[in-house]
Amino acid sequence: MSWSIPIDALAALRDQVSRPRRIAITTHHNPDGDAVGSSLGLAHLLRHAGHSVTVVFPNRPPAFLRWMPGYGDAIAWDTHAGPAMEALRGCELLFCLDLNRPDRVKELEPALLAAPFRVLIDHHRDPVPFTQVTFSDVGSCATAQMVADIAVAMGWQDAIGADAATCLYAGIMTDTGGFRYPATTSHTLRMAALLMERGAVPHQISSAILDDSTEERLRLLGFTLSERMQVLPELGAVVIHLERSDLDRFKYQPGDTEGLVNQGLAIRGIRLSAFFMERKDGIKVSLRSKGNVDVDRICRDLYDGGGHLNAAGGLARGGMEQVVERFIAELRIRMPQVA
Ligand code: 5GP
Ligand code: MN
Repeated sequence: MSWSIPIDALAALRDQVSRPRRIAITTHHNPDGDAVGSSLGLAHLLRHAGHSVTVVFPNRPPAFLRWMPGYGDAIAWDTHAGPAMEALRGCELLFCLDLNRPDRVKELEPALLAAPFRVLIDHHRDPVPFTQVTFSDVGSCATAQMVADIAVAMGWQDAIGADAATCLYAGIMTDTGGFRYPATTSHTLRMAALLMERGAVPHQISSAILDDSTEERLRLLGFTLSERMQVLPELGAVVIHLERSDLDRFKYQPGDTEGLVNQGLAIRGIRLSAFFMERKDGIKVSLRSKGNVDVDRICRDLYDGGGHLNAAGGLARGGMEQVVERFIAELRIRMPQVA
């Protein structure tokens, strides 16, 4: 079963797209596979339905996502601020994908809030109300799966071409960690099958995303696991950190640390993995967990962030040593309660 799509939202969407519109689609800052896949996938579907569509990213996604069909027509604000703003300012209808708060688009927020009509499609917890039409389901494994569900409900199944299918499959595959995380259901696998039938080629998509590392990226992974990973068996936790000098040493490119935090969970008995990385604006925090260890809560409480029960992020202020120390102290209080 797909999630029960709200009939009123579907009717409102149907009404909005009943005539050709100027549409913009945006998604969260530091777009991941689901953000890019769901946005480009929806763009293909809407173009097929006769609309003029521009995808606007707050910043450029990492190289291993830039191969997706339609990426060349998308605009990133960090490299093309003018055209990005123009696309948002000039749209009649704005889709906000894979985000639960308007500030997730960073500098695009004022333009997002100025759009005449907004539609949300998202699977993060507790979306704040900022759209006229809302599709929100925390049970969905990926926003891309929700887009596919909505397409089917709209009667657009036969309009899903190979390009849309490829993008949507890529979104589902990345947000489920290759169909491994608990949110992967029989419905997810059926939807993946449907997307295959519509032209997605799983081995090519997996390879395009996973086999695109530079030598430095793989060496950074090795270095991090051997030199920058603290294992705290008594807390069932792993803490990984990378400083600016580490990143420079391995010629860091955006996306190079994607998925790194998950490595901690591969150790027997570990239920929480934390990753702290020095960035210009502070220390980027990524948390992953298993079972009922609620990392969304931790990110909301400590890092002005959020996400999902088992995957969340945020930003910490202060020096690396102090931030990591404080985090471990916090775990000593929190982890015994969920153990
Ligand atoms: P990541 O650790 O890969 O950056 O993010 C994990 C999950 O948490 C993703 O679903 C992402 O959208 C969400 N997330 C990451 N950072 C933030 C943040 O600062 N605020 C909120 N609300 N969600 C975040
Ligand atoms: Mn997502």
